Amino acid sequence: MDLAFTPEEQAFREEIRSWVRANLPEDIARKVRNDLHLTREDMQRWAKILGKKGWLGYGWPKEFGGPGWSAVQKHLFEEECALAGTPRIVPFGPVMVAPVIMAYGTPEQHRRFLPGIASGEVWWSQGYSEPGSGSDLASVKTRAERVGDKYIVNGQKTWTTLGQYGEWIFCLVRTSNEGKPQTGISFLLIDMKSPGVTVRPIKLLDGSHEVNEVFFDNVQVPADQLIGEENKGWTYAKHLLSHERTNIADVNRAKRELERLKRIAKTEGVWEDQRFRDQIALLEIDVIALEMLVLRVLSAMKSGKNPLDIAGLLKIKGSEIQQRYSELMMLAAGPYALPYIQEAMEAGYQGDFPGNVLGNAPLAATYFNMRKTTIYGGSNEVQRNIVAQTVLG
Ligand SMILES: Cc1cc2nc3c(=O)[nH]c(=O)nc-3n(C[C@H](O)[C@H](O)[C@H](O)COP(=O)(O)OP(=O)(O)OC[C@H]3O[C@@H](n4cnc5c(N)ncnc54)[C@H](O)[C@@H]3O)c2cc1C
Repeated sequence: MDLAFTPEEQAFREEIRSWVRANLPEDIARKVRNDLHLTREDMQRWAKILGKKGWLGYGWPKEFGGPGWSAVQKHLFEEECALAGTPRIVPFGPVMVAPVIMAYGTPEQHRRFLPGIASGEVWWSQGYSEPGSGSDLASVKTRAERVGDKYIVNGQKTWTTLGQYGEWIFCLVRTSNEGKPQTGISFLLIDMKSPGVTVRPIKLLDGSHEVNEVFFDNVQVPADQLIGEENKGWTYAKHLLSHERTNIADVNRAKRELERLKRIAKTEGVWEDQRFRDQIALLEIDVIALEMLVLRVLSAMKSGKNPLDIAGLLKIKGSEIQQRYSELMMLAAGPYALPYIQEAMEAGYQGDFPGNVLGNAPLAATYFNMRKTTIYGGSNEVQRNIVAQTVLG
């Protein structure tokens, strides 16, 4: 197994690096580097810049308008973006639903939905989870009843990330109660402007509005917005989840944040504390191990193997690392991590933090926010069960 990059791959990295450097707006990069709140406009501005270049769908094959990059090239792109401080690509459109539309949608659905995702014009949301149906996703109850050339949808989704901006939502809906729960689920694309769709915010511990409840009350959905076959949605849903979990590992962001942690520790003096440095060293070892795991996956993919069954493992390790660096940053900052100023999370905040030695870092807010990582995308406990069954046997 060869984990080193070839000269061509290194050249590719350089090309990405200089393009990102030339095109990433500095005001957005500053927010990302300091973990400040990104507005919809910030996220979409960057998405459209990438879209114009043809890189928002950076994982897409050429036949669907993507760059047709190899697994290694995709990794290098992600790494350069993370190190430069680009916003994370909001994954619901380009990373999650697009591969499902490509694999299982009709040519008409390709033409209708993919261009708006590739350009960053259309904001998608994910409608999988429901109250009582998170880990046990196959128990979804939102009902879609076929009446003529429409489905009538009734029910509720929850934890819908950034659903307040959503224009379209891809949903798992129940179309049959026959047989096993998995066999009665369909995959439906719903226009969120349809009459009967209501989005309600859920306020999080850090004060932010990141997730929502979405209600469907007799929503009429044209039947040509069904993906693939009725009652086969579970297969398509699983295809999507493996993309979501690999994406959550985010080892490149961890590398950037590790360097930030070291800067904070040095500024605050705890770098001199051997015990604290031990904690950073342990974290660094885990980040390197995760990177090696990612590179092993890439190496396997290069030789034509499909390692998606370890997506859950990447998710577990990646999410735990994200929590640890946010904890250590908060510990390193001590009292400066504590003042939590709501306005500082808002767009255009120009003020300062008391004793601003940390570059306006809302570390306590980030720490609270990172509690989510071991829950979303499938909780880590459940991922451990899946890894135990599929990898360990
Ligand atoms: C910030 C955030 C954003 C999210 N965004 C979205 C989104 O955009 N779209 C979407 O559809 N969903 C989203 N989710 C939902 C997410 O996928 C679910 O929260 C997750 O799958 C867990 O489901 P649950 O919340 O219903 O918890 P439950 O399934 O009720 O689990 C509760 C606890 O029990 C444990 N548990 C459950 N079953 C088992 C088992 N068999 N073995 C061991 N332990 C078990 C879990 O690990 C957990 O600790 C988001 C969640 C969060 C927190």
